Amino acid sequence: MKLVIESLSKTYANGVAALKDVSLTLTNGMFGLLGPNGAGKSSLMRTIATLQEADKGSIFLDDLDVLQEKTKVRQLLGYLPQEFGVYPKISAERMLDHIAQLKGVGNKGERKDLVLSLLENVNLLKDRKKHLGTYSGGMKQRFGIAQALIGDPKLIIVDEPTAGLDPAERNRFYNLLSQLGENTIVILSTHIVEDVSTLCSNFAIICQGEVLYSGDPETAVAEMNGRIFSKAINKSEIGFYKDDYNVISTQLKTGQLHIRVLQENAPGNGFEPAVPNLEDVYFSNIATRVDVNTI
Ligand code: ADP
Repeated sequence: MKLVIESLSKTYANGVAALKDVSLTLTNGMFGLLGPNGAGKSSLMRTIATLQEADKGSIFLDDLDVLQEKTKVRQLLGYLPQEFGVYPKISAERMLDHIAQLKGVGNKGERKDLVLSLLENVNLLKDRKKHLGTYSGGMKQRFGIAQALIGDPKLIIVDEPTAGLDPAERNRFYNLLSQLGENTIVILSTHIVEDVSTLCSNFAIICQGEVLYSGDPETAVAEMNGRIFSKAINKSEIGFYKDDYNVISTQLKTGQLHIRVLQENAPGNGFEPAVPNLEDVYFSNIATRVDVNTI
């Protein structure tokens, strides 16, 4: 499967240009859409999920015109939105049965088998009779994935799925997501760099509605080799360093500020060469647009 997005643009009625000429090509596997809050990730996801219109551009899933053939797209789509409301007084099992019925699984026995296998998949079998209102954040997200998987989707969209999960819940969720994706396109939108480095074979960085980078994480990091340098400084010196060096990120550790700079040549002045990582790729791209180093 191939999802081809070309020159997609969207300006909301209030004048915010959420998507500016976005072009991306996605194939089977996990694709990370990485960007700060307000970058346009949800706008892009909702447009692909046929929930809102674009002003300009096209989206094709193989031969299917996504912006025109909405009903057909919805049959192939699994969607876990950012704001995932659940009915609090209904059990996971009943809710999934209901959604399966809506998605056209008419046979009761077939539905029961499907629901139980989905619940097992997302590790909620033992909690299936509990009301959704009693679920933790991680359990709700796993339930969200189960509902998104009904109907054997070929395109799965998950919008900021790990926001608000504790580390253990996030790990469990990573394991679940990484099992998908072999025969489907999974789009994962996130502002958490670790989500992309852990899960995604390809990714794009989006900021202020524009695609700033797209590629695979390993190549992206390799491109930074020999160009990242770090130094611990006093917090009060940051102004000077920002004026004189290309500072891409700062981190406060035990009273000292650890700064990382991107330069073609060793800056000297006490800077040490550093092993690059995906955060360097992310910060160096968005540093040109927003001040990520606000302390
Ligand atoms: P992200 O998902 O990356 O946080 P969004 O797509 O939600 O970004 O938002 C992109 C920009 O569009 C933001 O400036 C946001 O305030 C604005 N925006 C999002 N939805 C709407 C809307 N329905 N009406 C007006 N502005 C919106």
